[in-house]
Formats: sequence, C-alpha cells, structure tokens
Amino acid sequence: MSESQRELLADDALVLHVKNWQTADKYAVCFTKEHGKLRFIAYGARYEKNIHGRLLQPFANLHIEVQQGQKIDKLRSCELLQMPKSMDMQQMAYAAVASELTAVLTEDRVPQPELYEMLGAALAALMQRNPRLVVLSYAIKLLAATGFAPQLTHCVHCGEAVTAKENAWFSPLQGGLICSSCRSSYNGDGLEPCSAEARELWQWLAQLDYEQPAPFRVRGGALMELEKILFKFIFFQTDKPLNSLNFLSQLQL
Ligand SMILES: [Zn+2]
Repeated sequence: MSESQRELLADDALVLHVKNWQTADKYAVCFTKEHGKLRFIAYGARYEKNIHGRLLQPFANLHIEVQQGQKIDKLRSCELLQMPKSMDMQQMAYAAVASELTAVLTEDRVPQPELYEMLGAALAALMQRNPRLVVLSYAIKLLAATGFAPQLTHCVHCGEAVTAKENAWFSPLQGGLICSSCRSSYNGDGLEPCSAEARELWQWLAQLDYEQPAPFRVRGGALMELEKILFKFIFFQTDKPLNSLNFLSQLQL
C-alpha cells in the first residue's frame, strides 16, 4: 500500500505524553475526540524551527492530522487549539497523573468522546480548584468509563451487600470490598482498610461537578485512605508503577 492510500485521520487531541525519539524526532501519545488514544512519531519535531515540535507539548489541545504508517503512525500536521495555561509545579504534577492514567487505562483507537471531554474538563479544573481532589475524581470517573470500576457496594468474597455505615477492607487484587465477616478467612494479601467514610468520599468524587461541587467535608484521613486504595488498585490493573505518581510522591504533595 502506498503512503497516499493509507488512512489519514484528522481530529482534535489532548497531548498526554511526549518524548524524544532518535536524533530529530518526537514520539507522542494523544487522546482524541473521535478516535480515542493515538500514538505517533512527529518527524523532525526536535529541530528548533519545527512548528510541530513547538506545539507538541504535554496537556496542549491541538488539531492533528495523522497518517497511518506501516509500523507506527506519523504526524502530518498540527495546529494549536489551546496551549495549557502556565501551571505551577503542583498543578503540573497532578496534570501528569491524569494524563498518564488516561494513557495506561485506554486502548489505541477506541473512540470515547466522553472521555476526551472529561479529561479536558479535569485539566481545566485543576487550574482553578484543589488539583488533588480534581485528579482523584478524574481517576475514579476514568476507571468507570474504561470498565475498571471496583466493586464498592458488595463483598467480592461472599457477595453480601456492605452497608453504607459498615467499615470494610479493600482487596486491590480482587478489585473490591472484603466485608468484616470474610476478613478473617480471607487468604489474599494486601488488604487495605476501606472505611465507610472513605467509600462516601469515593461516591462524592465519582459524581463531582468541578464547576459546582456539592457540599462535602473532606477529611484528610479518609482522603489518604482513598488515595492508597485507588493507586494500589490501579497498580494491580496496569501492572506497572506510574512515573507521574513517583514524581508526585517526591514532591510530597
Ligand atoms: Zn464477605
């Protein structure tokens, strides 16, 4: 098949990740409005005068044209829709978590326009609101949108409902709650406490409207408990540590 016969995609995209590739090129991962996640090479993008290279920045919103390649797709053109506003270190660290989670939890070329909107909304909101809560909320919504949502209403061992007031445990491996009756007989490793309060916070974050958040008092203890469960669970799903979370922990944010 000649190059001109290969598929040319045009779409709006949010840039998730960019890295240098060979001597003059860049490799990028984007999440697009109509085509889901796309990965491609931008040839010559590391040359100073290359317009693609200047626009291809993490969190930028671009209109891109990508040509299907034999081994990997390549960027034909891109134009700027919106550059990310200047972020402080904390906002950038959380934006990197949202981007990396999107990259690892989605498949190539599976259209999910609602996810594109969700990511755009989260990246905008973390500039205005508490970025930690925005990104936790985004991560929870992303798990639901990609079919990875854990079981938080029933025990994954015995199947019994866990009431809203009951404290329970969470198995990252099984992807759900372990009730207090099952805990003593449960042989699996790595159970984490999952209090009623942490589960209530999870539900609040799952529904969080960044523009008009419903009133809720977030306690530090429940927040840390939820974070631990969430990131351990994601680690089990993706089977690799996230670079952005390492960076975040180094910043001690
Ligand atoms: Zn049980």
